[in-house]
Amino acid sequence: MDTVWRIEVCGVRGSAPAAHRDFLEYGGNTSCILAECGQEAVILDGGSGLLGLGHRLLETGKRRVHLLLTHLHLDHVCGLFGFPLFYDSRAEVHVYGRTVEGKSFEESLKALLGSPYWPVGLKDFPAFVEVHELLPGEAFFLAGEKQGQVRGCTLPGNHPGGSLLYRLEALGKSVVYGLDCEMNGEMQRDLVNFSRGADLLIWDANFTKADLESHPGWGHSSWEQGICLGREAQVKGTLMTHYSGAYPDQFLREQEEMAKREEGTCCFAREGMVIEL
Ligand SMILES: [Zn+2]
Ligand SMILES: [Zn+2]
Repeated sequence: MDTVWRIEVCGVRGSAPAAHRDFLEYGGNTSCILAECGQEAVILDGGSGLLGLGHRLLETGKRRVHLLLTHLHLDHVCGLFGFPLFYDSRAEVHVYGRTVEGKSFEESLKALLGSPYWPVGLKDFPAFVEVHELLPGEAFFLAGEKQGQVRGCTLPGNHPGGSLLYRLEALGKSVVYGLDCEMNGEMQRDLVNFSRGADLLIWDANFTKADLESHPGWGHSSWEQGICLGREAQVKGTLMTHYSGAYPDQFLREQEEMAKREEGTCCFAREGMVIEL
């Protein structure tokens, strides 16, 4: 069967980039995933992994992208400032996100991208940039997509300040992106329904089960929870990511081995990894 989705891991860390050599096997950039479907390039989060991805997109002539943001915490947006496509007048960038604390997504984005945090603002970029407001729980199509081939839907995440989880579907294949979400009893049923039958669940594995217990309310989950969710929702594979900056490569290798012993269909994201669905 032809590939519907090509998933490329571009950033795997939570909180902040980790450039130390003990972090480079899994990767030192913060959250960013490219999900390509036919001609459409969907980017999930704009962490520091977005910078290298932007250069690769321009090299291959891909100038039209859809950038879906879970929320505006810095580890998910620090790649936006220098995102090469924003500085290319031939580029078309659609940015999606949610209203938070009474402020529209566009207002929040304008406040972030511009003075005093950055010398140029959203309206100064040479690229064509369009901001799309999403409501939690809302279904949507990618802007301007002629056949309406890619369908998205959202689920509000349990995270300080709120986050938005995404499910993308095309030609019978689906990808769920569930980062920055603390799994709790109330959310569990919603998450199972939201993820049900997905071909790939990309999950917030910021903490191990043991570390999670000492960080209640931080808005994150564990790989152990990802395995349970994946089983309950009958997903076909789970990709763990958004690792704590306290976890160097050696530690992650050990965790990945333990996780794979428990569930053979799960794997830990490494930068440069490509998954085809
Ligand atoms: Zn984060
Ligand atoms: Zn966050």
